[in-house]
Amino acid sequence: MEVQGILQSQDEYLSGVNARSIKYRIKKLKTLKRTIALHENEIMQALYDDFYKPNYETLAAELFTVHKEIKCFIDNLGEWSSPENVTPSLLNFPSSEKIYHEAYGKVLIISPWNYPFQLAIMPMIGAFASGNAVVLKPSEFTAHTANIIETICHTVFDQHEVVVCKGGVDTSQQLLEEKWDHIFFTGSTAVGKIVAKKAAEHLTPTTLELGGKNPCIVDETADLKLAAKRIAWGKWLNAGQTCIAPDTVLVQENVKDDLIKHLKSWVKKFYPDTLEKNHDLTGIINEKHFKRLVELKEENKVLFGGDINEEKKKIAPTLIDEPSMESTIMQQEIFGPLLPIISYENDEALKRLTDHFYQPLAYFIFTRNKKKAKQWMREKQFGGGVINDSIIHVINEKLPFGGVGNSGMGQYHGYYSFKTFTREKAIVDHKIWYDQPFRYPPYKGKLGLLKKLKRWIT
Ligand code: NAD
Repeated sequence: MEVQGILQSQDEYLSGVNARSIKYRIKKLKTLKRTIALHENEIMQALYDDFYKPNYETLAAELFTVHKEIKCFIDNLGEWSSPENVTPSLLNFPSSEKIYHEAYGKVLIISPWNYPFQLAIMPMIGAFASGNAVVLKPSEFTAHTANIIETICHTVFDQHEVVVCKGGVDTSQQLLEEKWDHIFFTGSTAVGKIVAKKAAEHLTPTTLELGGKNPCIVDETADLKLAAKRIAWGKWLNAGQTCIAPDTVLVQENVKDDLIKHLKSWVKKFYPDTLEKNHDLTGIINEKHFKRLVELKEENKVLFGGDINEEKKKIAPTLIDEPSMESTIMQQEIFGPLLPIISYENDEALKRLTDHFYQPLAYFIFTRNKKKAKQWMREKQFGGGVINDSIIHVINEKLPFGGVGNSGMGQYHGYYSFKTFTREKAIVDHKIWYDQPFRYPPYKGKLGLLKKLKRWIT
């Protein structure tokens, strides 16, 4: 990879008026949409080859989302990019005052392996469509998907528009040595801190989409059967390797047994076959994570599940009973199919428990008590949340997606991607047919007028 050459050609592209026109970008987005559709089967195969991701999940959670995002940009880019008129300040009279939306320039995108297509392509769509040039580094752990991402991007875009740099940590570190105008990173909180430090050397703005240890509360008023169904779906999609998946269930003591009964029942319905035959459960990404998860399982009391298949690195949906808050499983993001169930007696006990989950990426509450749901949602700081379901806040591109503090900074999807990849530039057009005299020295005799203006305007 010759980074310097890429950066130089991107600089030249960014200064070309034609390349940056909205019409041109929309045309490219349409070509991207068609090219992705043409490669749909290969994409599904690549994700299956990488970690046995079922075609259904690739279509639902990767391709569907990406197509929706492209459509959203095609439909709205013109409007979003138009300069916005603001009411001119009387103090600047006579003037017209506008906000222009300006692309940052060269954007580096570093992406993870868990939704390897979607999490690479979604920010790329936003960055390119908003007028930037992009260098995209997909995860090294999903090599088949990285290859198809490279094929698609290099078919649709010129090197100076979007370039894919495959590779591992070395490649990422090499790219981070360069000066970027924006860095968009999705991955673990630990690596997010490394990225932020490198970015700070050049004062480069960053968006960090980081990990989450997401609590999921179920109180005694909840519809337990439906809650269990919706938790089971959100947790075991992608075998729990979803940044916004419920990490731990906090359930009111008097309904714990019923909730567990329903969770078991849904798991049996969703995944009726043995691990060897089950094609609906994704595998664990690599040996390191498989070993980590098996160890976590063995250190704890397994209530249900626990089977493993070493060949395909699969772990069955597993319920863990009452781990202590000091245990390893409660000190890290689980990011796998293990689901701890911890009971609480009353609201005070629940508050103590939820304090353990500091600034999570997502927060879920199952209850019929609307007042309580609103109160919990207001009191806690977290990226995004759902009442009476899990993970579905990611579906609507009209909602911003992102974390807070520990779980990240900034957000994207739809308009929020456009906002992330552009900055707002203020322009005042001061008319020349009249010039207000009172701002100029000498100030003698003008103080009274200024006082009047101050009273009137402020
Ligand atoms: P990771 O942080 O290990 O790696 C992410 C990317 O960073 C990869 O492309 C990798 O090559 C690169 N990288 C790794 N170490 C690096 C280093 N020292 N210096 C520079 N670059 C480095 O994350 P992962 O294991 O690929 O993904 C899982 C994590 O991502 C989980 O914590 C998960 O919650 C998080 N995640 C967050 C979101 C979100 O939207 N907030 C989405 C998906 C995943």
